[in-house]
Amino acid sequence: MNLKSLKNQTVKDRKVIVRVDYNVPIKDGKVKDTNRILASLETINYLLKNGAKQIILMSHLGRPKRAETYEQTLKDNKDLSLSQIIPELENLLNEKITFCQSLDLPEDKIVLLENLRFHEGEKKDDLNFAKKLANLADIYVNDAFSSSHRAHVSVSRLATLLPAFAGFSLSKEVEMLSKLTKDPKRPFVMIIGGAKISDKVSAIANLAKIADTVLVGGGVANNFLKAEGFDVAKSYLQDVPADLAKEGVDFVEFADKLLEDAQQEHTLIDNYIPLPKIIYPVDVMTAKSPDAKNAKEVNLLRCENQSCYEPDDMFLDIGPRTIKLFSKVIMSAKTIFWNGPMGVFENEVFSLGTKKIATAISKSKAESILGGGDTISSIKQFDLEGKFTYVSTAGGASLDFLSGKEMPGLKNLVE
Ligand code: AMP
Repeated sequence: MNLKSLKNQTVKDRKVIVRVDYNVPIKDGKVKDTNRILASLETINYLLKNGAKQIILMSHLGRPKRAETYEQTLKDNKDLSLSQIIPELENLLNEKITFCQSLDLPEDKIVLLENLRFHEGEKKDDLNFAKKLANLADIYVNDAFSSSHRAHVSVSRLATLLPAFAGFSLSKEVEMLSKLTKDPKRPFVMIIGGAKISDKVSAIANLAKIADTVLVGGGVANNFLKAEGFDVAKSYLQDVPADLAKEGVDFVEFADKLLEDAQQEHTLIDNYIPLPKIIYPVDVMTAKSPDAKNAKEVNLLRCENQSCYEPDDMFLDIGPRTIKLFSKVIMSAKTIFWNGPMGVFENEVFSLGTKKIATAISKSKAESILGGGDTISSIKQFDLEGKFTYVSTAGGASLDFLSGKEMPGLKNLVE
């Protein structure tokens, strides 16, 4: 996907409106994670250096409840005001920022607009609201990949009203994720875990067609084990959300179909060990609850009539054989995509699977791309930050991109 880059555009003496993603965690008025603010600096600094007349920054923050009037919405949602990020932004950028609640802007160099979702028009993709924003500037830049799966005014509609360009952080995200979908270096190994399969089905289905091997762990694996006829006892199986249920989606059937489609496909590890394309755990760590203090190891392949675990047991981490098997596949990979922990890593008792898999990825020579809030928390927990090629903070947007869906925020930026 070739995007219209800001680099090829004259910005000198122009007013530039930039959609950034400042939807950051805030506690007691302080920003708790600055990654998204840091991600916006390259574009802002580029605009400053190249003589933009004015830089108008805009973002959403959380899910405000709108009142009858804009003034009342401001009063009711002080905890979601973007004014809270000004000190951090000024500090990181080393520039003065003017905060603006109205769309009547002063001439100041850098302006940050109030939370866009305080306006009714933003989420409704309202043309009139879009025109008001378009009137503020000469050029539009989208640097918020993580919001680009939404058809909202600031991410999609504005791009139809002004000359529109991709910011540097958005371009980087698209470049890195495209490495997975467009001719990845092989073997390409995809690792999926976590609890919620609903967010991931489309991306799994699309990437499974491209990947050489798919390793499935975490709660997601329970759907695959069930599809293969294993009794998963009281293990977590996500209920199908109403919107997907309406479409007739069933996660165990989804897993079954994926396994069936891949039945004939194998990869050779170390050039001589044939492995199936989709690999689920051969052993698990079980307990009665995710808070348990002890775990029991269960070898699923040596477990006739499920006699080695009880009907109220839960599978809460992958076991040592699975760790070994997955690690072997990981070490042979040239490209890796990982989304979702291998177990309930928040409890140390069930953290070993995720820790060992994260460590194996960090040690492999592969280009490694990770995503997902809990996956990122887990690498922080294991002190492995900085050991991967790229960590995507975009959540749902990156999964939508990987599923091959058209993204409203990107379609008007394509060259
Ligand atoms: P997700 O947001 O779908 O990536 O899910 C992340 C969550 O999955 C984490 O909070 C983990 O505790 C949870 N998780 C991972 N493995 C399991 C499992 N086997 N059973 C239940 N929850 C799990």
